[in-house]
Amino acid sequence: MLNFTVGPVKSDEVVLKIGREQVPYFRTDEFSKLMLENESLMKKFAKASCDSRVVFITGSGTASMEASVINFFNENDKVLIINGGSFGERFVEICNCYSIKNTEIKLERGHDITEEELYKYANLGYTGLLVNVHETSTGVHYNIDMISKFCKENNLFLVVDAVSSFLADEFNMEALGVDIMITGSQKALACPPGISIMVLSPRAIKKAEVVNARCYYLNINNALKNGKRGQTPFTPAVGTLIQINARLHEIEANGGVESETKRIHELALDFRNKIKDLPLEIVSNSMSNAVTPLHPLNAKAGDIFEILKNEYQIWVCPNGGAMRDEIFRVGHIGALTKEDNTTLVNALNDLVKRGLL
Ligand SMILES: *Cc1c(COP(=O)(O)O)cnc(C)c1O
Repeated sequence: MLNFTVGPVKSDEVVLKIGREQVPYFRTDEFSKLMLENESLMKKFAKASCDSRVVFITGSGTASMEASVINFFNENDKVLIINGGSFGERFVEICNCYSIKNTEIKLERGHDITEEELYKYANLGYTGLLVNVHETSTGVHYNIDMISKFCKENNLFLVVDAVSSFLADEFNMEALGVDIMITGSQKALACPPGISIMVLSPRAIKKAEVVNARCYYLNINNALKNGKRGQTPFTPAVGTLIQINARLHEIEANGGVESETKRIHELALDFRNKIKDLPLEIVSNSMSNAVTPLHPLNAKAGDIFEILKNEYQIWVCPNGGAMRDEIFRVGHIGALTKEDNTTLVNALNDLVKRGLL
């Protein structure tokens, strides 16, 4: 089975090998040391300032999205949410769930936010902005430099869901003035699902203290306190954290975050070049290296997904809801190679020959 979805993605041998081992007890100095290494490498790869902190939450990426709303905002806040697809929508639903005042900036599908659309909201008393830097559902990578500038000018607390973008696209947390960056284990980290990660700026750490959220499992102050000694308040997904440690070290040994981003970028370019003559239209005006969103001109996207899965043992990523027949996505994260791209492109060419694409 060849996996071109956007998560869980294909893991490499190093990660797979750990997966077959017994899961160790974790209230030990050895595990604390491993967790402190995870924190330090995450800070390095996110390009966070040295006084930033990292929290590892056992839960999928959405757990960190929720934690970044409830621990950092309250009834005194009013936030802007960039909503260009289902992950932007999710931030809106989380804020509504906790009655955090919010305004959503709804974007046309497949389109980046423009300066005009964003600057309408300058000087209107907002206190924060939530954005999924890569809106994975549509494959749009937002202009984070422009968003960052706007947030600095308006003194907004900036939360960036980089779940599918971390490692795949260039990102400099400190330079962008990002307060929280979120990612997850099953995207470009290419580990099993189960851990989501929040990198917190010094300002975020202070804000969590002030807000002092009334929540238990996702309490960030408690997680930060335990994290100082390399521990978590509750039993984490220990095995996944060990796999993350191996992956982070592997990336470091292969030249660090820049090399990993370059590798994913080249894989994406290779695929995009190979499909130039196919009846597939790229449907994003600003792409992440993580994903290519495609609209088949002569076929239904949902059918392509099913046929590739059932007849070719290749998984591409289907879209949900109204987009199901319009768009499918091809991921470039995980342990994929240019040869894997060729295998997929050969299958697509075969579909054309069969009159199915
Ligand atoms: C995958 C993803 C998430 C997390 O989704 P979970 O199913 O909760 O892991 C969040 N945001 C974006 C942009 C994603 O791509």
